[in-house]
Amino acid sequence: MIPRNCDVAVIGGGPAGSSAAALLAQQGHDVVLLEKARHPRNVVGESVIPHFWRYADRIGITEAILGEKFLSKSGGTVAWDGHVRQMSFRDFGFTRSGMHVERDRFDQLFLNHARNSGARVFEEVVVDSPTRLDESGGDLPYRSLLDGTSGSLSARYVIDASGQASCIARARSQRQIDPDFRFTSIWGYFNGGQYVAEGGQIHPVEDLRQVWPSTFVSSIGRTGWSWHIPLRSSTSVGLVLPLESLKDMGVQGQQMEKFFLEQCRSLPYLKNLLRQADYVPGSMRAIRDYSFRVDSAAGPGYFLIGDAGGFIDPIFSLGVVLAVFSATAAAWLVGRCFKRPDRASSYQAFYSELTARRLNLARALALPLPSAEMGNLDELRDLMHFHSNEEQELFQVVSLLTNRSSNFQEIAGCATVPDSLHCTEIDKLHWA
Ligand SMILES: Cc1cc2nc3c(=O)[nH]c(=O)nc-3n(C[C@H](O)[C@H](O)[C@H](O)COP(=O)(O)OP(=O)(O)OC[C@H]3O[C@@H](n4cnc5c(N)ncnc54)[C@H](O)[C@@H]3O)c2cc1C
Repeated sequence: MIPRNCDVAVIGGGPAGSSAAALLAQQGHDVVLLEKARHPRNVVGESVIPHFWRYADRIGITEAILGEKFLSKSGGTVAWDGHVRQMSFRDFGFTRSGMHVERDRFDQLFLNHARNSGARVFEEVVVDSPTRLDESGGDLPYRSLLDGTSGSLSARYVIDASGQASCIARARSQRQIDPDFRFTSIWGYFNGGQYVAEGGQIHPVEDLRQVWPSTFVSSIGRTGWSWHIPLRSSTSVGLVLPLESLKDMGVQGQQMEKFFLEQCRSLPYLKNLLRQADYVPGSMRAIRDYSFRVDSAAGPGYFLIGDAGGFIDPIFSLGVVLAVFSATAAAWLVGRCFKRPDRASSYQAFYSELTARRLNLARALALPLPSAEMGNLDELRDLMHFHSNEEQELFQVVSLLTNRSSNFQEIAGCATVPDSLHCTEIDKLHWA
């Protein structure tokens, strides 16, 4: 039964919510996590970059993730405006690989870990807008989808990890769509086909365990792009297109699946990779206007983590890493707030600033048009230097893969590719 009180209430059990719940329970706090769905539940976002591992270690989930034997990936290959470029994580000092993960299973491991760490987890429970949120904590009304019962949970701290729903910011009208990133994404799954590996070599999916795949991205028109992410038993394929272009083409509702399949069968590169692949019927999903910002990621009685604290375009696969990073930071700071309640407001301000800066850097990297609003350059430069040399190099290389990041060159301070950077121009892909 859901208790009436706890130290920390967590809304949502994705990677962010489950990580924060696990860390706080490990600190000895009484944590209750309420999750709307029943895991395994599906979510988009299957490409995980190696920065993930340092947070996984901290959260204590590394062994469970390794035990699952998700597919390792070598890096990224990007076909953008006629150029094909490739980067490999190994060149940046990462000793552990990136991964392509089935998110239903990946997220279930996180939720299990929260439970095993001592958090009380309740699935199929929807949290509604808080009826109270102040320096002494919050009251969360909830409804069970299992038996229709409802109640209210009081907590000293509320962590909102409700993803795109961003319950608290939305209830306070503090969730704003980012006007520079107005896109629709449509994705689905295929069986069979081919994939891109290092050196631009193309392999049949049967080779995936022997030859690591690289996440393949290609440009569509001026600002759109597609992804091709081979998983253990299917391949995730997605399109990201400006909202307006789909509207102009009259693509909506029932026509979306037809449009998606037509694009997959006609776009350069993608059509070749999918030539011998079969679409998994009914697997198409879509989401629009998913890039948003919040006014403040923390305040009296609450912290917003993962997507609930703001989300930037997924082009560089930063979502899961930002989710576990913000969960780790928030769990640490909530712990500090319990120890030093007199300093709670400064911990909240610190967290807000930290996450806003991280998101701004990711945003500058992904801006679709050079004229778009980039924010305070000096602040962004400072933040760049806060990262290790390898990570700074990686940022620079990533910014050279697409022309999306021409803005970013101003921050990185390099207009041309320094020789030391590991980004290979491939003259062509080598079809099997
Ligand atoms: C098109 C697209 C492609 C992406 N590709 C990638 C990628 O390749 N790599 C990557 O790293 N990231 C990617 N992302 C981002 C990634 O999906 C997210 O950043 C990540 O899932 C965030 O984790 P989270 O825990 O914050 O939220 P989520 O994983 O969304 O979890 C939120 C949870 O909250 C629950 N919830 C919501 N409302 C309530 C409520 N009222 N009460 C109770 N529970 C609630 C939901 O059921 C859900 O389980 C992509 C995003 C998009 C839109």
